[in-house]
Formats: sequence, C-alpha cells, structure tokens
Amino acid sequence: MVITSMNMYEFSEKTNREMGVLIDRNSDKEIYEKAVAEVKSIIDSAESITLMKDERVSINKVTTKKETTIKNVTKPRGYCIRCQNRITYNPDRPYCSDCFSIWAQYENPEYPENVCHRCGEYADTSMDYPQDKKCYNLWKKEL
Ligand SMILES: [Zn+2]
Ligand SMILES: [Zn+2]
Repeated sequence: MVITSMNMYEFSEKTNREMGVLIDRNSDKEIYEKAVAEVKSIIDSAESITLMKDERVSINKVTTKKETTIKNVTKPRGYCIRCQNRITYNPDRPYCSDCFSIWAQYENPEYPENVCHRCGEYADTSMDYPQDKKCYNLWKKEL
C-alpha cells in the first residue's frame, strides 16, 4: 500500500513535490490493517456525487425549462491555474482559496502559472489570462 499526498496524474508527477509512505502488508501487518480499516471508514462516510462533463454545464446554454433548472443548481467546474484542483469556473477568480491567498501576497496579475482554468491542461496562464487560447475563445462565445 502507498499512502501519498500526490494526485495520481501527470501534473503532480511533473511539477509538484510530493511524499508517500509504502506499507508492506506482510512485514507491516498491523499498520496495513489499520490503514485499510481507515480507508473503509472514509469510503463508508463519503457521499457519492455524479461527475459531469464541462460542456454539459456551459453557462449560457438556455433552451428548455428543464435545462434552465439544471443550470441554476449546477455550477460549472474549473481548475485552479496553480495547483490544478477543481474549483468553480470563474475566469475572474482562477485560483483555489489556498493558492489565491499566496498569490494575493504579491498580487502580480502576470505571474506565470501552468494550468488552463477551463480545461485543466498545461498552458501559460496568469490571473490576467487564466485560459489557453481555445478555452478563451469558447468563453468569449458564451458571454
Ligand atoms: Zn490552487
Ligand atoms: Zn483550456
């Protein structure tokens, strides 16, 4: 078993410093079993949510009454342009609260970041330009 702070995707692997602990189920039997019990307890207490594709929740797609209702309850998801965590999609606020508080110490709107706020892909972004070109164009069309 490996317990780690790392998110299992490319961005964390390439850009973040992470740490993990390897537990061998044979030589660390007691710790292994405690950890499994803890994981089960986390799973048991978790609420299940349905993941939605970004495009399904685009902001200005108002057609039927049914879709309007969905639009009002579902906030479109975006990505923090620094840590890539999922946050509410809002190009005026492209940081998660943790990263925003660090950014706010300097408030440099051109400070270079690595993630597109909309699609989560690698991109040269910043507070001023939080989206790559493709996503910026999609966003402009929705305004
Ligand atoms: Zn962040
Ligand atoms: Zn993008």
